[in-house]
Amino acid sequence: MNTLPKDISGWGRYPVQRCELVRPERHAELWSEAPSLLARGQGRSYGDAALNAGGRVVLTERVNRFLAFDRDKGIVRAEAGVTLAELLALTVPRGWFPLVTPGTRHVSLGGCVAADVHGKNHHHDGAFGTSVRELELITAGGRRLRCSAQENVEAFRATVGGMGLSGIIGEVELQLRPIESAYIRARHQGAANLEQLFALLQDSDHDARYSVAWVDLMSRGAALGRGVVMNGDHAAADELSGGRRLTPLRLVPHKAHNIPFAMPGWLLNRFSIRAFNSRYFRREGGRDAPFLVDYDTFFYPLDTLDNWNRLYGRRGFVQYQCVVPTATALAALQQLLQRLATSGHPAFLGVLKRMGAQGTGYLSFPMAGYTLAMDLPMQGATTLALLDSFDEVVLQHGGRVYLAKDARLAPASLRAMYPQLAEWQRVRRELDPQGVFSSSLSRRLRMEEEA
Ligand SMILES: Cc1cc2nc3c(=O)[nH]c(=O)nc-3n(C[C@H](O)[C@H](O)[C@H](O)COP(=O)(O)OP(=O)(O)OC[C@H]3O[C@@H](n4cnc5c(N)ncnc54)[C@H](O)[C@@H]3O)c2cc1C
Repeated sequence: MNTLPKDISGWGRYPVQRCELVRPERHAELWSEAPSLLARGQGRSYGDAALNAGGRVVLTERVNRFLAFDRDKGIVRAEAGVTLAELLALTVPRGWFPLVTPGTRHVSLGGCVAADVHGKNHHHDGAFGTSVRELELITAGGRRLRCSAQENVEAFRATVGGMGLSGIIGEVELQLRPIESAYIRARHQGAANLEQLFALLQDSDHDARYSVAWVDLMSRGAALGRGVVMNGDHAAADELSGGRRLTPLRLVPHKAHNIPFAMPGWLLNRFSIRAFNSRYFRREGGRDAPFLVDYDTFFYPLDTLDNWNRLYGRRGFVQYQCVVPTATALAALQQLLQRLATSGHPAFLGVLKRMGAQGTGYLSFPMAGYTLAMDLPMQGATTLALLDSFDEVVLQHGGRVYLAKDARLAPASLRAMYPQLAEWQRVRRELDPQGVFSSSLSRRLRMEEEA
């Protein structure tokens, strides 16, 4: 198969590395002999998880056929290159929605499994792996293995959240959720600081399936961690009015706007971000009464702007996402925000969510607690030093960093954060004794090496 050497990056546009790209047209071509292989979906992981510097990267985007759809039971089987956007277009008009969705629909099913992605409902429904009925895993040498929570269980647990390192996911079979409408009954509540934000997120557990909080990362002092909690639930058909009620599952597609090239890096600075955040806090924090919103706007607000990652300029950005256990989560996240404030480093988007119990995969990120994600423009050594200091706090509190967002964690920290790493290594060695599957992330973190 022809390979194309190309400089590519993850969604954060940092780091950029030269990889040998192949783009199979058919499922049968997913596997090819190479000393070093890695599958890539839509490249929506932020750091180096979908990079394989100097090695082969298998682009799965054209291996995207639907294979079966049981409309009565809401079970869909598809090739791993199918995106959530394609899945939603097929299933929403027929009354079915993914059990778990991340904050963008431009992700492949393979990428969702490999990162065991979570949504705004992790505290209710767990991560993506819980909705997977079965996988086809193409292991080293091209062997095809069916695996699930009942069959080839260890391979399943090494693959869900396994960051593409156990093999190539060829097919995915998913259980979907029945819905009556394409709309969400939402409610926003402003919180003056992090403590209030926590209290509101705990409350929402009782009355909303989905909840997430936007955090003003530029707030300081008594307002540290102020934000807006956004709750939502699927609306019943009879909650809609007018024309919507007649076709409750139909949605008029939104037109996305494009950022055509990398913007000047100075555009996003402390002052512009602070001004934006204050306006946003006043506007969204004041919408206390429930309102109806289409699922696209509720789940995928960032998708309205194509290539928004170019806003961060040529140096790109990093997302720091950690989860910390419930018992000391408030103190831990207050420390992180305090360190950010003292550093004076600009930080744009801040998102806080509650998480439920640890999931299926040995390396699945979620654990019972709170997860905070922060986007920081890449400013070289200053940014890296700040994130190292965040790791100290997260480690002290028994938390972990999300590998799908990572570009700079240290190998020792990985070992402390992921206690099931040794089990994952054992299963991976059985599936791939020569270590064909590899990524820039796995080599940087020495994921294959024992402690
Ligand atoms: C705007 C935005 C919002 C996001 N919100 C969330 C969120 O709310 N929750 C969350 O958990 N994540 C979130 N993410 C991260 C994103 O969901 C994950 O990074 C996801 O893995 C991206 O899917 P992808 O198809 O782009 O995979 P890629 O980025 O291409 O790959 C990610 C990993 O999956 C592996 N992989 C991909 N396809 C296959 C395959 N077929 N077989 C084996 N391995 C494969 C790759 O090797 C790599 O390790 C968000 C990302 C963006 C850009």
